[in-house]
Amino acid sequence: MTAGGQGDVDPYQPDHGSTAFHVEHYDLDLTYRPHLNRLHGTATLRVRTLEDLTELALDLAGLTVEKVTLTGARLARYVHRADRLVLRLGGEVTAGTELTVVVRYGGNPAPISSPWGPVGWEELTDGVVVASQPTGAPSWFPCNDRPADKATYRTSITVDNPYRVLAHGALVSSKRRASATTWVYEEKRPTSTYLATVQIGQYEEHELVAEPVRQAVLVPTALRTAARDRLAHHGQLMTFFARIFGPYPFATYTLVITEDDLEIPLEAQGLSIFGANHLSSTDGDERLIPHELAHQWFGNSVSPSSWQHIWLSEGFACYAEWLWSEESGGRSADALASTWHRRLSRLDQDLVLADPGYRRIFDDRVYKRGALTVHALRGALGDEAFVAMVRGWTSRYAGGSVTTADFREHALEHATETGGTELAGEVQGLLEAWIDGAALPPLDGASGRGWLDALRR
Ligand SMILES: [Zn+2]
Repeated sequence: MTAGGQGDVDPYQPDHGSTAFHVEHYDLDLTYRPHLNRLHGTATLRVRTLEDLTELALDLAGLTVEKVTLTGARLARYVHRADRLVLRLGGEVTAGTELTVVVRYGGNPAPISSPWGPVGWEELTDGVVVASQPTGAPSWFPCNDRPADKATYRTSITVDNPYRVLAHGALVSSKRRASATTWVYEEKRPTSTYLATVQIGQYEEHELVAEPVRQAVLVPTALRTAARDRLAHHGQLMTFFARIFGPYPFATYTLVITEDDLEIPLEAQGLSIFGANHLSSTDGDERLIPHELAHQWFGNSVSPSSWQHIWLSEGFACYAEWLWSEESGGRSADALASTWHRRLSRLDQDLVLADPGYRRIFDDRVYKRGALTVHALRGALGDEAFVAMVRGWTSRYAGGSVTTADFREHALEHATETGGTELAGEVQGLLEAWIDGAALPPLDGASGRGWLDALRR
């Protein structure tokens, strides 16, 4: 807590975001010219202060601020430096004050460099992809860039014809004029900044499944057949996950396939982005497609409150791959767990899931050890209690943000309910070994076979 208004500093994002205020809503009114890579627009942020403040610092990188206005408090001046747009207030504003910040800005958006490569707004050969995890959101709009600061959005973006534009949320209008179309999307579910997105390309849309969750693919014409072949079983995948993880948390799900190859696929709110290369890779079906879909529950609906807790997203998404492998006739989750346990046992054992360190949040051991933790917990709880625990987790924290401590508490409650203090003690020891320790715990013969059959009944 500081009077300066930076709030508590998250060691996983020391130069990013603020806990001193909360953005309730982003209204983005943007125009983009693909051939010039020129973005221009106005962002209106509805803000509530959480502390007494004398300044308010937003994240915005690489774009030029033209004008800032503030209602609800007096703005003395603003400074835009080192990717921070700092509004100095004309006096102290008390906690709980509602403010409206309007920022007019523009320029040539570019990805932000991170230890894992460029993230955020990125030009494709013919269009744009926005994949912001973990710190790319300020490449296209001023924001409080913390995963826990979730907000609703209205995104209006005018782009030259014939480009197709997809943003997160529901399409509420598209007005076509002679040279450009204005697309308006509304996102009513709380959304982390890194999951806010815009996809621009010469795409056509195909519905894969209409009910109970609409699933569609946005794809360049040349990749249409390949995409439909690859995604023929997507409806089954969705149904299977909903049975184990609980109801799908958003209204629709769209897979975007870019014409370009992409290094990795990435999730955004209600959609995922894949490169053309992911359609032809044998990994696509078995691993990447279920992984990205699982993030809608783990990461997007139930979000990490800091990148420190990313194993709660990646561990579950990775475990979801193993579950789908078993369900779709591939290797069982148990067999995959044994394989990965063996591989991890040959790597350095110096990573702690509860606190991996910022530079290692995307270390593959976070993913695989996270999945093994889920598998070990399933073995201890038994399949029925495990599914109840997972469904309870996704419903209890739907639209919210979580820490490792929240998960521990939740799992222990289910252990107590299922097997009293004895099982709770066992689960507590198990979680301590897997989450807090660096040494790889043994993988005891975990799970009853045939549980997927039981779920189908
Ligand atoms: Zn992931």
